[in-house]
Amino acid sequence: MHWIGGGLTIDIRRRRLEWSVQPARFRRRLRQTRLAAEGVRLRRVTALAVFLATVSATTAFTGDGARPDRLDDASSQLTARDDNDPALPATPLTIRPAGPQTEIAALAAPQQRATPAPRPQPRIVRPAVDRSNFGQPTWRRYAVAAPPDDGRPLIAIVFDDVGVNRRQAERVIQLPGPMTMSLMSYARDLPNLARKARAAGHELMLHIPMEPHDHRKDPGPNALLTKLDDAELRGRIDWALDRFSGYVGVNNHMGSRFTEDRHGMSIVMQAVARRGLLFLDSKTSGESVAHSTAIQHGVPAASRQVFLDHDAGPGAVRAALTELERIATKNGQAIGIAHPHNATVDVVRAWLTTLEQRGFRLAPISTVVARNYDLG
Ligand SMILES: [Zn+2]
Repeated sequence: MHWIGGGLTIDIRRRRLEWSVQPARFRRRLRQTRLAAEGVRLRRVTALAVFLATVSATTAFTGDGARPDRLDDASSQLTARDDNDPALPATPLTIRPAGPQTEIAALAAPQQRATPAPRPQPRIVRPAVDRSNFGQPTWRRYAVAAPPDDGRPLIAIVFDDVGVNRRQAERVIQLPGPMTMSLMSYARDLPNLARKARAAGHELMLHIPMEPHDHRKDPGPNALLTKLDDAELRGRIDWALDRFSGYVGVNNHMGSRFTEDRHGMSIVMQAVARRGLLFLDSKTSGESVAHSTAIQHGVPAASRQVFLDHDAGPGAVRAALTELERIATKNGQAIGIAHPHNATVDVVRAWLTTLEQRGFRLAPISTVVARNYDLG
């Protein structure tokens, strides 16, 4: 029933009661406010008509006319923060819902003469979560299945900066999984890329640019900078977190300066904790407080041990992988960060072919973190 969008019209001369359709814009406004009941407008009201209108409108709101589905949708958006819903704002920051007061003011004027219809009853807001994973934090919900735990040391390879170069991203996707792919927040077409990577069996992370010490290096659009105020930082973080869904956590792109700033990292961790994500400290600074700040905020965290292609030559990448194996043997696990350069992808592909024979197990980042927290 679409009675709410209509106005009640009583034409005394013709002695009949009729509904008339209001302009679309007005109907849209009515749906956006819980004061939809005030949208009933009477023309040529008589004492008898007032009585009839009240009876009719009551019927409308005790039936299915209160549009609870539409209102539920709006409420779900407000409660879906921990679900990584891809809100995908076209432009970053400062997207705020229209205040109800504004809507009330806009609607109040033309209805001075109307008899208010009964207000809709308060509704129960449904949580916007996947019920099959009810109770699971986001990082567990989107985790790739853990490999069998047979005591072998675990090695996680995280490819950073994915998505900036689409062709390189495709080459990483074609690697045997599970790789962990950290998609750059400002890359284009991320939902599609994310779907494709997950379909290929890889785990996803979100790569957020942060301020480096070297001012000649540009971290990229919407980077987190120490000079920004808290509101701006929160806006940039939320913008990045809303770019796509299905990722287990966040790690920093660059950020040698920002990750040393405990206040800034606290703001990051508040958002990461609220969304149920994990944090991987890329360790671009030896003074990084990212890991300890994560722990303070209850965020499951890990740190990168080896950059695999700091020197991007194939020989250097092979040596870095050997170092990663050494750490994994010693600690039971190790995390290496790579970049989607052609040479790195080629060396990693070859290295993977004999990894299990050498006694190691490739794992997604979530498995390594879960084991750290005795969840795995
Ligand atoms: Zn990066």
